[in-house]
Amino acid sequence: MITGKNYIGSKLSAKGSKTYKTFNPELNIENEPIYTEATISEINEATQLATEAFETYKAVSGEKKAKFLRAIADEILALDDTLIKTYCSETGLPEGRAKGERGRTVGQLRSFADLVEEGSWVEASIDTAQPNREPMPKPDLRKLLVPLGPVVVFGASNFPLAYSTAGGDTAAALASGCPVIVKSHPMHAGTGELVASAIIKAAEATGMPNGVFSNINSSGIDVGAQLVKHPQVKAVGFTGSIKGGRALYDLAAQREEPIPVFAEMGSINPVVILPAALNNRSEALAETYANSITLGTGQFCTNPGLILGIKSQSLSDFVSSLSNAILEKEPTCMLHPNIHEAYQTKKEKVMSQTDTAITANLNSDTKPNYASQAVVTVDGGTFLKNPILHQEVFGPFSMVVQCDDVDQLEAVISNLEGQLTGTLIADSDEASEYSGVISALQNRVGRIIYNGVPTGVEVCPSMVHGGPYPSSTDSRFTAVGIHSIKRWVRPFSYQDWPNELLPDELKNENPLGISRLVNNSQTKAAIE
Ligand code: NAP
Repeated sequence: MITGKNYIGSKLSAKGSKTYKTFNPELNIENEPIYTEATISEINEATQLATEAFETYKAVSGEKKAKFLRAIADEILALDDTLIKTYCSETGLPEGRAKGERGRTVGQLRSFADLVEEGSWVEASIDTAQPNREPMPKPDLRKLLVPLGPVVVFGASNFPLAYSTAGGDTAAALASGCPVIVKSHPMHAGTGELVASAIIKAAEATGMPNGVFSNINSSGIDVGAQLVKHPQVKAVGFTGSIKGGRALYDLAAQREEPIPVFAEMGSINPVVILPAALNNRSEALAETYANSITLGTGQFCTNPGLILGIKSQSLSDFVSSLSNAILEKEPTCMLHPNIHEAYQTKKEKVMSQTDTAITANLNSDTKPNYASQAVVTVDGGTFLKNPILHQEVFGPFSMVVQCDDVDQLEAVISNLEGQLTGTLIADSDEASEYSGVISALQNRVGRIIYNGVPTGVEVCPSMVHGGPYPSSTDSRFTAVGIHSIKRWVRPFSYQDWPNELLPDELKNENPLGISRLVNNSQTKAAIE
């Protein structure tokens, strides 16, 4: 049942007077439940509980954390239709998408459970002492990764499950040993509360300390800013706009004790189509890309917002085929009136720039909150001169840049801001002739795709979902897959520490049987 209250640890709480409702964009009406924004005293209570919980939670075994994470997954599934219906009513997204995202969320939680249960993720490394070394004895040094402390996670508007309350950031932080305080996204506060109730149930059933998880309601930027500035918070995870992510990053940097903000922000995901590929399959590529641009009403951080090619008849044919194909798609609902309005405004701003040509702009936007998909084309020189054309238009929109030659194509790529993905479309043997283009693309992105589409982020250890700024605030980390746990830990060394006082991961006997780097050799063997 949705109460509209905050979870301050395991307690439901609504001390404040500021309230708000979520919105059903499909029906164009407000949903009934009323949510109460957290007060300063509730924020302080949640951070204090998280700080206290950290003292015990950081030492909870991998086996117990795995039970907790698996219990969260089971409790989310037990929410069944209530969760799916609430999700759909708060997003305008179809049931199939809700179920798919739930599957991904549960899968992420279980993959982190497997990771911490196995245990080698802490990267234990041991260099045993050499007391007789000349001219100086060598001390015994043992290192592992330890959790940072309470983490604040901002729920994402476009992924109410997989990147929100129990999404990738939360799953990774809980797996690492960090308590989590979620700043619930106001557009899907009901989905958030239901998932929070699943986490609290799981925490209680598996004996986790109170405060290991809290869910904070808010509509407006004040509560989020207070959380980021709070001295008891040690790291932040965020998915959303560049404006929001950058503001939080700057706030965290201005604190007396600066803390890391791992923000995954806007991206236009350049797609480079090489000449032979364009020549041989422009029609098929147009159909593939019309689908990718409109998937999920274009509300994906990996949406292909920019398509690059060298001027030719084939490129002109591709532009017409893409424009025709996209106009044949049925318009679909956006997440919220505000996101719809932002789409319209940003799209019109780009379309009004000098020397842009609108080749598709669906004119049957009859239902409220439904997006009209569009394609714009521009030449390489104009694109290079106008930074407005480089900005994300979040929705079913893409721009085709027609470059004079390969040098201009390379210049356009090199002048892009950092991106999550880059895609190369090439015919066999063609790519080897364009090493400069590929190198330029590699410099600007976190993941490079060959002959595919950027939409669809596989959750697995080799996935990189991150990239040079501003696609993320720290390109050394991924926000998806088990290695995303590294955002919430720091390396820590014990020097000459007694064996019985070391954590199990570093003890001579290797009681957990994990893989360790011992005197520069990877092994599961005990130290004699
Ligand atoms: P957002 O505006 O960045 O907000 C995300 C979250 O951060 C919200 O909970 C918001 O709080 C909070 N927030 C934003 N600015 C803040 C600040 N200065 N201080 C404290 N908290 C702050 O993103 P959104 O609501 O999801 O969507 C708005 C636009 O962001 C979209 O139209 C789209 O352009 C872009 N977006 C991009 C991606 C992507 O993956 N590329 C994903 C989602 C959104 P409140 O809502 O409570 O104010």
